[in-house]
Amino acid sequence: MNRINLSLFIPRADIEVYLERLAAEINRSYQDKPLVVIGVLKGSFIFMADLIRRLNMPVELEFVGLASYGQNTQSSGKVRLTRPLKRDITGKDVLVVEDIVDSGLTISYLLKYLKRRKANSVKLCALLSKPSRRICPVEIDYLGCEVADKFLVGYGLDRGECHRQLPEIFALEEQPDADKP
Ligand code: 5GP
Repeated sequence: MNRINLSLFIPRADIEVYLERLAAEINRSYQDKPLVVIGVLKGSFIFMADLIRRLNMPVELEFVGLASYGQNTQSSGKVRLTRPLKRDITGKDVLVVEDIVDSGLTISYLLKYLKRRKANSVKLCALLSKPSRRICPVEIDYLGCEVADKFLVGYGLDRGECHRQLPEIFALEEQPDADKP
């Protein structure tokens, strides 16, 4: 077993600043036009809950499930749709809410999938982005903050399904257990 060390990376006060700014930008862009907000499970659920409560327009919620990480801290590179979209979005304005864009493979896959569904518009809001890790270019319409190449947990982000409930964002480092030969 490796030793896991968590260090505070984005405190709650900074998350609040990103939320307020992002909501203001989205409210300004859409005015009172109804919006379908699609959360990418599971990592975005806390961010999405906090964001939508700051939006002024009528909002319909949907979720899609995508997986590329499994138990690891590196993307497998293969994206799987684990929960398809259950709603017709033809002619609607859609805002995808993602926790973090890393290689960009996951969100590019999802944006292509949604664009085939003939929405009026599809935009992306991401809390975090790691530009140094990008493989697939992604245009992020509303971004909280760019971050360095660290593996982050908390505020919905997990490591093997743990740590999602932490109210702030932490950098996770694993060190081999010194007691082990
Ligand atoms: P991408 O396809 O852009 O490489 O990865 C996107 C997905 O990988 C995110 O939605 C998130 O679930 C996961 N991911 C990327 N970076 C991190 C990270 O630092 N921490 C955690 N917990 N998940 C991450």
